[in-house]
Amino acid sequence: MGSVTVRYFCYGCLFTSATWTVLLFVYFNFSEVTQPLKNVPFKGPGPHGPSPKKFYPRFTRGPSRVLEPQFKTNKIDDVIDSHIEEPEGHLKFSSELGKVLWHANLLRFGYHFICKAKFYPPDLPAASVVICFYNEAFSALLRTVHSVVDRTPAQLLHEVILVDDDSDFDDLKGELDEYVQKYLPGKIKIIRNTKREGLIRGRMIGAAHATGEVLVFLDSHCEVNVMWLQPLLAAIREDQHTVVCPVIDIISADTLAYSSSPVVRGGFNWGLHFRWDLVPLSELGGAEGATTPIKSPTMAGGLFAMNRQYFHELGQYDSGMDIWGGENLEISFRIWMCGGKLFIIPCSRVGHIFRKRRPYGSPEGQDTMTHNSLRLAHVWLDEYKEQYFSLRPDLKTKSYGNISERVELRKKLGCKSFKWYLDNIYPEMQISGPHVKPQQPIFVNRGPKRPKVLQRGRLRHLQTNTCLVAQGRPSQKGGLVVLKACDYTNPNQIWIYNEEHELVLNSLLCLDMSETRSSDPPRLMKCHGSGGSQQWTFGKNNRLYQVSVGQCLRAVDPRDQKGSVAMAICDGSSSQQWHLEG
Ligand code: UDP
Ligand code: MN
Repeated sequence: MGSVTVRYFCYGCLFTSATWTVLLFVYFNFSEVTQPLKNVPFKGPGPHGPSPKKFYPRFTRGPSRVLEPQFKTNKIDDVIDSHIEEPEGHLKFSSELGKVLWHANLLRFGYHFICKAKFYPPDLPAASVVICFYNEAFSALLRTVHSVVDRTPAQLLHEVILVDDDSDFDDLKGELDEYVQKYLPGKIKIIRNTKREGLIRGRMIGAAHATGEVLVFLDSHCEVNVMWLQPLLAAIREDQHTVVCPVIDIISADTLAYSSSPVVRGGFNWGLHFRWDLVPLSELGGAEGATTPIKSPTMAGGLFAMNRQYFHELGQYDSGMDIWGGENLEISFRIWMCGGKLFIIPCSRVGHIFRKRRPYGSPEGQDTMTHNSLRLAHVWLDEYKEQYFSLRPDLKTKSYGNISERVELRKKLGCKSFKWYLDNIYPEMQISGPHVKPQQPIFVNRGPKRPKVLQRGRLRHLQTNTCLVAQGRPSQKGGLVVLKACDYTNPNQIWIYNEEHELVLNSLLCLDMSETRSSDPPRLMKCHGSGGSQQWTFGKNNRLYQVSVGQCLRAVDPRDQKGSVAMAICDGSSSQQWHLEG
């Protein structure tokens, strides 16, 4: 263990001593894969060339992308070892080491040294990688496909199936066909839907064409990391009824830069929205983060792998679900309740562009998330569907189509109850409030007893040195909060942080994050005392974490005069740093 620790610290030193060199590497070597996405607002400086076309030929060089022998993975250990200065274990940086690490992508991705040391059986099953896309930026799709082809050992990649969901973009038709034929011959199949099906039926169509032993689903704006597939396949080889997800790293929608995410797992709230949950340290296998599989109550949706036979046995997806949304919770509940397992595999990492908004709607403007969530609630939630309806009483009588096939499937598979799922797979759900127990009201009135004050003061945003205040009157229910100049004489800027983890402004209203509209910014609401949407914690990197949606509070734009704030995936950036000070 001792030497392991030494090695770990070496990566730390490497980051500090080599930062500038690395930045230069990043700038010059990867400029060709950092094209802005169509439909995604692009701002800020960065290595973005004038025309995407200019850079595509770089992809086409084929053999030159193959690593030179000295950069082959089995050499990396030797080179790193030769740079470790015993006994302190510091890494001596040199250009040779820089190149090796660069090519191994260790620096870029915070690759964990224990992962690197893992061996996987030689007889892993081969995978069919299914990628559905609708009006995707050509460069993002190529980044996805190339990373898969370049970073997957040929014998493990049975095929890549691209499902074009009736996109309108011209380059996704002829140009894509031509490109694939010319530069990626052999393993890529393109399937074209004649009408827009949405990602749920799209994945089923892809799966129906697949012939590999394992199915891997990816979004069309990803970059798989080195050694991404082997850990997933190894877990499935061990147990065919195990479904696995990589850690989803973050590719910035603004700069398209790749950064690694913390290891988190999937949960959900009673609005039936997916959320990220922190993994208790006790399950992390050490303070520095896990490298062993982590049991996950739900999956985020787009990126996972499972045995192909098992995908079919388990009932694929609900084909009555449209376009987008809810299918990730549906398949997660189904896996756990019907005898399977769902894990996140920390040694497998795949970057995903988290877009600020989805650049498409549904064909007739329907709210497909609600339609799909309703189907899922009626099939899988048993009496707990009342929890959803308490938050969305308007949906109680709304129609959701015919679900008899899915109800039948649940019977046929002999699936357990949703209560079993909550008790055994997601017991944490009970912590976020009393609403997991049916029959109880969601929001209990606190009555005369007030929770103990832990801290009182201004909530300062460190990057802009401004304070979080009410946009209008601090007593106005439903009002937004914004950043304004700190005024140390103004009692309207005083927040109370109490033992129930509420943030109460001016002793009146609680900072609240809607569970049903998680894309909205937080608001000031009457304190309800049942945690969840009003539960905030201060954590690592001065972050302010919202328990219910599993995201962090951030300033939208430090230069923005309006001082807007919003929720975002926690990434430790300076826009997400807060300090509550007296
Ligand atoms: N997609 C599709 N048809 C649709 C909507 C989406 O094929 O009608 C694809 C989309 O191009 C992407 C994947 O499904 O590759 C997941 O969608 P998206 O990335 O928009 O979802 P998010 O990651 O935002 O949840
Ligand atoms: Mn996506």
